[in-house]
Amino acid sequence: THTPVTVTVTGAGGQIGYALLFRIASGAMFGQEVPVRLRLLEIPAGLKSAEGTALELQDCAFTTLDSVEVTDNAARAFAGTNVGLLVGARPRGPGMERGDLLSANGAIFGPQGAAINTGAADDVKVLVVGNPANTNALIAAAHAPDVPAERFTAMTRLDHNRALAQLAGTLEVGVGSIRNVVIWGNHSASQVPDVSHGVLVGEDGTQRPLPDALAEALGGAGKVAPWLDETFIPRVAKRGAEIIDVRGSSSAASAAAAAIDHVRDWVQGTAGSWTSAAIRSDGSYGVPKGLVSSFPVHARDGAWEIQQGLSMAADVRARIDRSVKELEEERDMVRSLGLV
Ligand code: NDP
Repeated sequence: THTPVTVTVTGAGGQIGYALLFRIASGAMFGQEVPVRLRLLEIPAGLKSAEGTALELQDCAFTTLDSVEVTDNAARAFAGTNVGLLVGARPRGPGMERGDLLSANGAIFGPQGAAINTGAADDVKVLVVGNPANTNALIAAAHAPDVPAERFTAMTRLDHNRALAQLAGTLEVGVGSIRNVVIWGNHSASQVPDVSHGVLVGEDGTQRPLPDALAEALGGAGKVAPWLDETFIPRVAKRGAEIIDVRGSSSAASAAAAAIDHVRDWVQGTAGSWTSAAIRSDGSYGVPKGLVSSFPVHARDGAWEIQQGLSMAADVRARIDRSVKELEEERDMVRSLGLV
């Protein structure tokens, strides 16, 4: 028998929470052998919704679900937790300035970081989904001085998965045959989807550079750069708005699926290829140390490692610099607000 894993989900009564909790409970994150103890954290206004979700979780009779607890108390929610999924955040209201948004989120992620510091398990791993995710992760980490800062990560896996889906559609191949795509920088409109190191794996196992495969699909090598600039990158970066337009509300199930992928890979490891995650920079690729920025990453023994040594074209470099500058501005703003 396996030791149960305790998972805390904040904003558990919301849309992403509703799409996420059933998959965690059914074993999608830790496998069919590992019992899960769920803690659902909400603000008082969200408690009823979270309680309703808890009733439905019971009714699924998942053999992997050990227990469900709903609370509005962060200390209670994070006591002994192994994995924290920080989903609840303050959405940007009409006329709200970036500083207002950051300070509203500081009031959420600061105390949650402190509760993690005090009560979470020694191996705690944190994924921030609530936006602005990278900077919210920075705030939470700053309030958890006893937890290694690299345990606080932010989600760019949905951007990564969106990029894979766009490429697979264009190349008319399965998503599983595309490897080594990367999202760099901030989870915002400035993010940098980069296919330059990507490979297409054929049915016979042969590997082809993605730019070559794209040239063939698009009808010439000269068509690749304009397609990347005018179609691919904006489509990936603005996919959230497209979903809202078509669906009438923001993406929830795909965000939940990406959160599952991120934590599953972090815990179980990645074999062979890399993926994208926003993790604390160690200074790699000129990203200032300490910023939470998206990189190409592998996971081994429960830790992320940045894929080193990738070359970078001038236009990719310039885009990354712009996105990193945005992260520095957000960091400077939360510094001046006293949040980190
Ligand atoms: P969702 O569950 O749809 O979204 C939650 C957060 O995820 C938002 O900040 C959203 O940011 C972010 N997000 C990140 N990536 C994506 C993505 N790809 N698609 C959609 N959202 C994404 O919001 P709801 O309003 O349905 O639910 C939020 C819940 O959180 C509420 O029940 C509320 O009560 C609760 N809450 C809990 C807190 C706590 O536990 N302390 C604190 C604050 C709120 P964006 O809006 O920018 O897309």
